[in-house]
Amino acid sequence: MERKTMRFSVLTEKGHAEVRERPLPEIGPHQVLVKQLACNICTTDYGQWMGLREHQGYPMAGGHEGSGIIAAVGEKVKDYKVGDHVAMAYDGCGECLPCRQGDVLHCTGMTQKKTEDGYLGAFGFADYFVRNTRSLIKMNPDLDPSEAAFLEPLATVVKGLKKLRVVPLETVVVIGAGTMGLVNAQAARALGARVIVSEIMENKLRTAREMGFEVIDSKEQDPVQAVKDLTGRVGADAVIVAVGASIANEQALNMVKETDGRILFFAAGYPAPELKIDSNIIHYRRIELIGTFAADTIDFFTAGKLLNTKAVDVSKIVESKKFKLDDIQEAFKEASTPGKYRVSVLLNE
Ligand SMILES: [Zn+2]
Ligand SMILES: [Zn+2]
Repeated sequence: MERKTMRFSVLTEKGHAEVRERPLPEIGPHQVLVKQLACNICTTDYGQWMGLREHQGYPMAGGHEGSGIIAAVGEKVKDYKVGDHVAMAYDGCGECLPCRQGDVLHCTGMTQKKTEDGYLGAFGFADYFVRNTRSLIKMNPDLDPSEAAFLEPLATVVKGLKKLRVVPLETVVVIGAGTMGLVNAQAARALGARVIVSEIMENKLRTAREMGFEVIDSKEQDPVQAVKDLTGRVGADAVIVAVGASIANEQALNMVKETDGRILFFAAGYPAPELKIDSNIIHYRRIELIGTFAADTIDFFTAGKLLNTKAVDVSKIVESKKFKLDDIQEAFKEASTPGKYRVSVLLNE
C-alpha cells in the first residue's frame, strides 16, 4: 500500500465541518492500516456540530462509530490480515489501570489528548487511518459496513443491559424509539425479554412496529396506564429511559413495578433532565436507579457477536440516504434533523 496521505473530516467550529488532508501515520508493529468504509454520525458528533456539546473541543476530527477493511498490517501483527473486516472499539494507552481493566474510555495514560498536528478525536470520518489492533473487533464480511459501524453503540447497550440484569421473560419497557432506543429494544429481546416500546413520533412508532415490538403511542395514550394494561396491572420489571427528558424519567418511575423495579438511565439530555424522587420511595419500593455510559472492552466482543450473527438487526435504523466524505456538511445537517435514524458517511465512495 503506497498511500501516503489520508483525507478526513474536521469540525472547526459550530456548524462547520470540512475535509482536510494530512500525512498518514506510520504503521507501528502492533498496528494496522484500515481502509475505512463507513462511519455513522452519533448524537455526540452532530450535537457538537449543532453547538450543543462544544465542551468536546475543536478542531474535532471525530467519528467513533466506524467500520472498514484492513489494508496493511504492522510487522508484529499476527491475528489480523489484509482483507479482514473490522469495526472500531475505544482506544487508550493500553497500560493504565482503567485500560487494563477494560474501561478504556476512561484511560488515564494518554499524556496528550491531541495529535501532534493538533487534532482531537478518533478520526472515524477518514478514508484511511492507522489503528492499534487492540482497539478493533473483527466483523462478519457479509454485514453492510454501515451496520458493522453499530459496534460501539451496541457495546454501550450491552454494558447497560448487563447492569440492568435483564433475564428471559421479564417485561422491559423502552422509552424512546430513536436509534439507541431501538438498539436497546433489540438487544433486550435477544436476551429473552418481552419488550414494549413507548414513543411519540409516528415514523419511529412505525419502525418499532416493523421490528415486531409491542408499541405504545404515548401522544395518544398515557404510557403509564398502557404499561399497566399490558402487564396485568403489575408494571414493567425494568424500564430503559432512552431519551433524555424529565417527563420520560417521571414515566419510568410510575410504570416500573411497585417493588424491586429497575430503571436504566441510558440517555443524556441537554439541558440536563430532572429526576424527582424522594429517597423514602426508593427505600420502600426498593427501586434500583441504574446509570450507564460507554462500554468496557468485553462488551465490544459481545456486541460483535450480536451483530455478526444478526441477533441484533440494525438494518432498519440506518438512513437509506448515505453521504460521501466530501458531503460531510450535508451529512451533519441530515443527522441533526429530528426523527432521523443513524446517518452514515461512506468514506471511500
Ligand atoms: Zn456514539
Ligand atoms: Zn490507558
